[in-house]
Amino acid sequence: MQRLVFATVWQFIQTSALGGAVTMGLISPLVAQEKLSVLIIDGQNNHVMWPKTTAMMKSYLEQSGRFQVDVQRTRFTWKGGKLLGQYALLDGVDYEELAEPKSDPSFQPKFEKYDVVLSNFGWKAAPWPKETQEAFESYVRHGGGLVVVHAADNSFGSWPEFNEMIGLGGWDGRNESSGPYVYLDKSEELVRDESPGRGGSHGPQHEFQIVIRDAEHPITKGLPRAWMHVKDELYQQLRGPANNMTILATAFADPRYKGTGRHEPMLMTVTYEQGRIFHTPMGHDDGAMSCVGFITTLLRGTEWAATGAVTLTDVPADFPKPDQPSRRDFKD
Ligand SMILES: [Zn+2]
Repeated sequence: MQRLVFATVWQFIQTSALGGAVTMGLISPLVAQEKLSVLIIDGQNNHVMWPKTTAMMKSYLEQSGRFQVDVQRTRFTWKGGKLLGQYALLDGVDYEELAEPKSDPSFQPKFEKYDVVLSNFGWKAAPWPKETQEAFESYVRHGGGLVVVHAADNSFGSWPEFNEMIGLGGWDGRNESSGPYVYLDKSEELVRDESPGRGGSHGPQHEFQIVIRDAEHPITKGLPRAWMHVKDELYQQLRGPANNMTILATAFADPRYKGTGRHEPMLMTVTYEQGRIFHTPMGHDDGAMSCVGFITTLLRGTEWAATGAVTLTDVPADFPKPDQPSRRDFKD
């Protein structure tokens, strides 16, 4: 009987999507994990590549074998342009591209169905309906995961609980009333700087080095201490409540590129009651998201936000070097 059960499970695995990985010896059949469910939310973002970057992140997550990904988009979209057709969701929703962002009363995702929510909203996204905000707060408060990518930390500057979740943010009215600037100074000491000023800025895009500051966290454990990121915007002067926040990595904002001369936070975790948040300010566009360092930390950070642990511990062979970036082509 035991053998019969085993044979049945084995046949199932061989005929399932995991079959290839099992055959290659990558996954032991009896410890194959259930996939984590991810909801990517988007629809309004000043970063015009957003329909493509949503497709890229969905693809990266699913190709890892660890995640199953749904996308939910506001019915009123902004700055999606022609890419909305190229990366259409084909979900039967009658989308309407508008000249200005507008709140969508029908945007009511079932957050609780998912292990983790990834925001690809951006600057100037219109506020969600009140009940959606409350459902989202409840979801994260009770242990839901959240991943914040690049301009997702520009959204909703006047939503206090969202600012608690993201830890640090920029633009959309953020200033000294939002919370301190947080960074490492020249002597690499952690500073919470209450001085007045804008929240969020960046100089011209360039390649910059990411330096791990917490090598024991599951998201960063085993990664090289430093790697060169591809050309991207280096977010600096982010500010916010920064409560229960850990800085896992930083990048030096070089004054030659209009930088602050500080080591700015680049990978962060935040806990919000029972919820876990992973925040990466990297990822301005499709080029920035082709960085193997971005992809690797996105996968690890998403898994950690979902479960509090990381099983995707392999360091890819094409991981960037301290002085040399590494990118992967994205095929639609
Ligand atoms: Zn950007």
